[in-house]
Amino acid sequence: MEKRVRLRFAPSPTGGLHMGGVRTALFSYLYAKKHGGDFILRIEDTDQTRYVKGAEEYIIAALKWCGIAPNEGVGFGDGPHAPYRQSERKELGIYAKYAKQLVDSGHAYYAFDTSEELDAMRKRLEAAKVVAPQYNSVSRQNMRNSLTLSEDEVKKLLDTGTPHVIRLKVPRNEEIRFHDIIRGWVVVNSTQVDDKVLLKSDGMPTYHLAHIVDDIEMEVSHCVRAEEWLPSAPAHILIYKYLGLEDKMPLLAHLPLILKTDGNGKLSKRDKSGIPMFPLDWHDERTGETYTGYRENGFFPEAFINMLAMLGWNPGTTQEIFSLDELVQAFSFERVNKSGAKFDPEKTKWFNQQYLRMKSDSELAALFMPTIKEHNIVAETKFVEGVCKLVKEKAHFVSEFWANGSYFFIAPTTYDADVIKKRWNEQSAAFIKEVTQAYKNLNSFTAAETEATFKATAEKLGMGPGQVMQLFRVCLSGVGGGPMLFEMAELLGKEEVVKRLETASATIK
Ligand code: GLU
Repeated sequence: MEKRVRLRFAPSPTGGLHMGGVRTALFSYLYAKKHGGDFILRIEDTDQTRYVKGAEEYIIAALKWCGIAPNEGVGFGDGPHAPYRQSERKELGIYAKYAKQLVDSGHAYYAFDTSEELDAMRKRLEAAKVVAPQYNSVSRQNMRNSLTLSEDEVKKLLDTGTPHVIRLKVPRNEEIRFHDIIRGWVVVNSTQVDDKVLLKSDGMPTYHLAHIVDDIEMEVSHCVRAEEWLPSAPAHILIYKYLGLEDKMPLLAHLPLILKTDGNGKLSKRDKSGIPMFPLDWHDERTGETYTGYRENGFFPEAFINMLAMLGWNPGTTQEIFSLDELVQAFSFERVNKSGAKFDPEKTKWFNQQYLRMKSDSELAALFMPTIKEHNIVAETKFVEGVCKLVKEKAHFVSEFWANGSYFFIAPTTYDADVIKKRWNEQSAAFIKEVTQAYKNLNSFTAAETEATFKATAEKLGMGPGQVMQLFRVCLSGVGGGPMLFEMAELLGKEEVVKRLETASATIK
């Protein structure tokens, strides 16, 4: 029988979820949805020393904001495999049970070395010029573990509660082969793999043991995670093998790194491109560090998700804009690159701009309205929608609307000095007076009518419309650039336009 498609996102609550983490969640979500499967949130909190308050809540809120909510797991309703927090799962005794099974079958062992003894071992190996000093098939022979101590001694140490860990017994010089959906076949010699700790002295499992036990117990079909886990995958393959549960092993997919813009190294959460690295604002109480979020910087979740999907994946066509549903349809791990994906701040803004343009004027007006109210302005929804229609063309964010269009709500009191200097003279001043008069007589104040009247007035005064166009704009808005001029006049309306032109005539010297 085909395995049901079940993917888990398994973050450790050691800080805010950065965008690389969100991408891992996104790819897992897309695959699960595409195949009608489950998307699970499991919290991997076995390392109590790295636990950060608020991180779990942050992860949940971030997934919700992105619109990629799990259908099972912490914060999203318990499914058949509760609990979904590893610290709670530990209480079930499952990790210890599997570890014991490995010890009993001779594939894991107890190690009683103190941290001083481990330090001494490292120094010894370094002195002997060992390139990567590690606890392995060679070095373990000189350490205090159940492979070197007598059975009686081991029993005594265990009975007296001597602190110990359980380590994986990695064989010497054996080829370990495994398949990764993104990378194909990977072959590693076991000499490069250390005897990983599976169960710590506090009884907590390490990531290596815990995620395997949970993936088995939760019937996970695909393990999708960051590239940084690739080096430990061979140890994981051995654990499945030694448990006799290779058939329960999920398919592996190690995602490529997200690289800095210049392609030099991994993108850092302290990146200074001006684009956030976190989905939502994140304040780390422990370190006092604060990071700004995509949400708070005016990005739409759809744009954020679309941009992230393109970091490492491509549809094989030139299409760049994908709704979440379209991503679900188009996604496959086969189209995820092996090599790192460069982060592009400009492209990230471009995505937001595309989504901004796709929004209806009424949606944008609803988003812009709070800013207008903050400025103590009462404006009709219809009018605000009209403003949005005009200012959205040049914006990447709704937050730019006010800076670029406050003059729609507040008549100018100052006028662009450069334009005035260049364009204000007797003739142009006469034009402004004349066009004000002509506008007063207009019955229909549409963009087309105002433009026709504008041109006719210029012609009457023997001027080209180009000579007074920008000046006219400055009289209406105070600034030299902006949206389509006569659309702007139509939106402001006859009364307001006339009033602003009269004020300009009286003010500009
Ligand atoms: N807890 C691991 C991490 O946060 C999860 C890796 C995995 O998905 O297996 O990186």
